[in-house]
Amino acid sequence: MTPNVRPLVAGNWKMNGSAAAIAEIEAMEAGLSVGLLGKIDTLICPTALHVAQFASAATTVSIGGQDCHTNESGAHTGDLSAQMFADIGASHIIVGHSERRTDHGESSDLVRQKAEAVHQAGLIAIICIGETEAERDAGETISVLLDQLANSVPDGATAANSVIAYEPVWAIGTGKVPVSSDVEEAHAAIREHLSSRFGGEGANMRILYGGSVKPGNAVELMSIANVDGALVGGASLKAADFVAICNAYNEIN
Ligand code: PEP
Repeated sequence: MTPNVRPLVAGNWKMNGSAAAIAEIEAMEAGLSVGLLGKIDTLICPTALHVAQFASAATTVSIGGQDCHTNESGAHTGDLSAQMFADIGASHIIVGHSERRTDHGESSDLVRQKAEAVHQAGLIAIICIGETEAERDAGETISVLLDQLANSVPDGATAANSVIAYEPVWAIGTGKVPVSSDVEEAHAAIREHLSSRFGGEGANMRILYGGSVKPGNAVELMSIANVDGALVGGASLKAADFVAICNAYNEIN
């Protein structure tokens, strides 16, 4: 945790869920206590198809998108703009998730332009970075993270409009989690970059950890210095697991 920084627990539903999954959002809202919601922010990013429906029904859980185009409108078949997400009630948009970087060849430069589009639309960008297993094995984790930060985070980033998500690629969906000292080292390096580049804004920017966060490891991970919440994939699909992860913040503090 970072003193005076409000944690965010965010769920990325990827290409999962249906209109009926609104029941999970309702169950999350029923399961998150008022006391807990006084301490943390919560967010679910369903498929783009379901953002409007979920955003109009949700009252305490924020709803966001998983990706957007760099432009506000135009001849870009199949794409959606950040402004379109804003128009249907989204609060955040994830950019640069490793599945986008890998499946769609997205570079850090493109990710930065997407983050700028998110800011332009008045939304919060969740900017993902993380090393592959080969980069970790080669001892390159910190240099990869610093390069991704330098090129993916726009100069206009503030603590209010940007969240960094550190997600080791090899930990996503695998059940593998780095040891706490490695998470601490990575988050400290990210904080140092943000603070030296953005001053107080960087010192207070949220840095989430993502990669196989589960109810059983949430307290340990969320207690690490400079870990200001979680980006959760698989375990965010079920309300009970998502609420249990959020409840870690009842045990920290
Ligand atoms: C993710 O997709 O961002 C993620 C962290 O997935 P999981 O929690 O399933 O590892």
